Amino acid sequence: MIVMKYRAKDINRTIEDCILSKKCSNIKAEMILIVGDENMVNLTALLSKNNDEIRYHKAQMSKKGIKKNFGPVVVWNITKECNLNCKHCYSSSNIKDNKKYFDKKEAFSLIEDFKKLNVPVVLISGGEPLTYPYFFDIVNKLREENIKVSISTNGILIDDEISTKLKNLNINYCGISIDGDVDFHNKFRGLDDAFERTIEGIRNCKKKDLKVGLRFTLTKENIRYIPFIFELMEKEEIKRICFYHLVPAGRGANIENLIPSKEEIRKVMDYIYQKAKYYKEKDSQMEILTVANHTDAAYFLMKMKKDKLLSYEFAYKALKKQGGNRSGKAICSIDWEQNIYIDQFSKFNCLGNIKENSFYDIWNFENEFIDGIRNRKENINQTCKACKHLDICCGNLPARSYYYNKDINGFDRSCYLYDEER
Ligand code: SF4
Ligand code: SF4
Repeated sequence: MIVMKYRAKDINRTIEDCILSKKCSNIKAEMILIVGDENMVNLTALLSKNNDEIRYHKAQMSKKGIKKNFGPVVVWNITKECNLNCKHCYSSSNIKDNKKYFDKKEAFSLIEDFKKLNVPVVLISGGEPLTYPYFFDIVNKLREENIKVSISTNGILIDDEISTKLKNLNINYCGISIDGDVDFHNKFRGLDDAFERTIEGIRNCKKKDLKVGLRFTLTKENIRYIPFIFELMEKEEIKRICFYHLVPAGRGANIENLIPSKEEIRKVMDYIYQKAKYYKEKDSQMEILTVANHTDAAYFLMKMKKDKLLSYEFAYKALKKQGGNRSGKAICSIDWEQNIYIDQFSKFNCLGNIKENSFYDIWNFENEFIDGIRNRKENINQTCKACKHLDICCGNLPARSYYYNKDINGFDRSCYLYDEER
């Protein structure tokens, strides 16, 4: 039974032990580090000199899209309903919210606006997007319009039939959440057999050759499972993982005390940096990304410089060009009530509702709030303004800035650099 197979056997092993193990040390590999979509830092865009990120880097940046003549990446929280009840859920979703989902007709007209704005990719999320009654109609329409589609799912509903449909619609990517070993994951996610069913969902995706990756939200309680997660990925041949920094939004605000300390998160980043180098040495296709904390960009760059990696200069230029956090610029979010936000974590300030104005008009409307975000570097708090990494971080995540300061440009306490590193 797979449940037994995926209980972590060695949970007393620390991240430090792994960092110091011979397996991960003495590896002289170069790596590059590029910012991706959805406020990500891609740690393993390794040595490839002809990848999308390079072209992306060369493109002219925009304050209203991923680059000139393109719209933003849209995180579409298409329903509030979810079959799980996770402790950290930024959208506070659960099974009771089965009436809160996006109107089908409005969804189709929204896609027309996506076209008008040249939105390159839509990340369909929720709640659990596969509970949305018109999910396949909407994906079909997006694909007809040649818009790339990724989904963010707990994987539980992905059976043979669903995975076939996803494959036939040429879904770009399925991000599936796992937050620890079987016992931890099930407790955290509020369902006794969540882990087992999620693994089945992943296997169904893989059988159909869908690109699948894991999402792991970092908390004080589960960082000890990171080595286990890498072992799981190797066993299941999963080639991508995104480590999400916990955001105190939705139910995540109830567990804000579980945000790892500065020292804990530095150890985690040291570990995954070594892992990225290790996979590079093995010529593995493994991709490691981090999400929702641009301090990572500064931290990894400092490590690359210290390690004298040849790719440091390129990585620095690429990150500088991208400019750090891009909420409200290259990213936006739309929820089940048809509200528009600067990203999926920032529901404290609604930019508008598409029942009243079109998405096109809302996105192009300018007011003090959106101006403050799109010109964040000029409006940021004094600590960040004085920081030498401002160009590649841009003051980190606005949702945390707001949570801690009631000011969208206040200091995000999840910055884990020491004063002398800033
Ligand atoms: S985190 Fe995801 S899987 Fe968990 S309750 Fe929220 S929407 Fe559902
Ligand atoms: S001080 Fe501000 S700009 Fe500098 S790394 Fe920290 S959050 Fe980013």
